[in-house]
Amino acid sequence: MEKNYIGEVFSKNEGEKVKLAGWVHTVASLGKLLFINLRDSSGFVQVVVKKDKLDPAGFDEIKGLGRESSVIVEGEVRRDKRAPGGVEILAQKVVVVSASNKDFPIRKGVSSKVLGDYRHLSIRSRKFSKLLLIRSELLRLFREWLIRNGFREFSCPTLITAACEGGATLFELNYFGKKAYLTQSSQFYLEAGIFSLEKVFTLQPSFRAEKSKTRRHLTEFWHLEVEEAWCDLNGIINLEEAIVADVLRELDSKIGHEIRSINPNFSPPQKPFKRITYDEAITLLSREGIQIEWGSDLGADEEKILVNIVGGPVFVTHFPKSTRAFYHKPDPQRNEVVLSNDLLFPKVGEIIGGGERISDYDVLLRRIKEEGYSPEDYSWYLDLRKYGSVPHAGFGLGIERILVYILDLPNIKFAVPFPRTISRIYP
Ligand code: ATP
Ligand code: MG
Repeated sequence: MEKNYIGEVFSKNEGEKVKLAGWVHTVASLGKLLFINLRDSSGFVQVVVKKDKLDPAGFDEIKGLGRESSVIVEGEVRRDKRAPGGVEILAQKVVVVSASNKDFPIRKGVSSKVLGDYRHLSIRSRKFSKLLLIRSELLRLFREWLIRNGFREFSCPTLITAACEGGATLFELNYFGKKAYLTQSSQFYLEAGIFSLEKVFTLQPSFRAEKSKTRRHLTEFWHLEVEEAWCDLNGIINLEEAIVADVLRELDSKIGHEIRSINPNFSPPQKPFKRITYDEAITLLSREGIQIEWGSDLGADEEKILVNIVGGPVFVTHFPKSTRAFYHKPDPQRNEVVLSNDLLFPKVGEIIGGGERISDYDVLLRRIKEEGYSPEDYSWYLDLRKYGSVPHAGFGLGIERILVYILDLPNIKFAVPFPRTISRIYP
């Protein structure tokens, strides 16, 4: 349908004709006048309906409309200082497309449980619409950055047969009588993809049966994963830094005002990000009285403290082998650590995990056995080291994690339209 978006009307001239289609937020009546606060995907505008412009039945129908009724309004632009945004629409014709039930469950003051149970309706709110717009823009900018820098989008399967991040968080399912799983990461398939396209990425959900309730874990999250042939740890860290800093700067320049209407303190982080090793990280933490035993992973709290000590985003590299999955390449200078990195961000901790992969067949086979996995389950993955193996590295970035940082969200469940957590799979 040919129509105008509400966002356009504020730059139109007095008297210009417009056709709007949207949803009634509120209707207030003042004698022979009605004021509709009309919403569409681009914003809100006040529509004035005069009784003498419409037939009486039409006027009363509009007066009685419930919140979220859908309408089409034809009218003309009025510049009026008293109207919100300095513009209102004087209606000449109002068509009710679908009158809403009077029991719209999203009202001021309802509990967060109700907002969650009615997520299919609460995403219509002004704040949620903004948030979803920012999310969509972020996804677009990540894709565009990668394509601009020579990466190809490579689609990976969701149904798989072998774990890549350990068995504890696998969702198992019955695949025609055989065991299968929902993928925890697309990394192994991207590793196959580099032999075809060299620089690949995918943006798709990963699934993890996270059994504890935290502010930063979903059971289904959107995972931006990148893999590059002929790349080492340093190369992949440089890539992570460039994509994150560039995309956040572009996001700020495109829709910084929308971001700041949710998080007034947002400003894009500047390159270069600090780089420290795991060993340096535990020394820094111990100076704050936090003792980490060498070989234990950093938890969310420790990550946030580190970010505060360093004063901004920080790469932690060279984690102990015991803290990382089997495919990470051991450091040739120091076999007990791997060539891995995490990028830690303020407010949320880890947003990226990455590193160099084992490219040698024998080393990979040994690591698979050391971790107690059966090599047959990884036979195709091992094949990649048999036929012209190359040094390669990659990373995975959690889209919702970075949104928690950008918008300073109290919980990761607000970063996705329909969150999946240990306690929620509906709606
Ligand atoms: P954590 O230690 O925080 O559980 P992880 O080390 O298991 O994360 P990775 O396997 O490195 O995570 O996954 C890469 C990225 O995916 C993480 O840096 C994070 O941004 C994101 N991520 C991982 N698990 C989740 C989850 N359950 N919910 C949301 N995002 C996640
Ligand atoms: Mg990680």
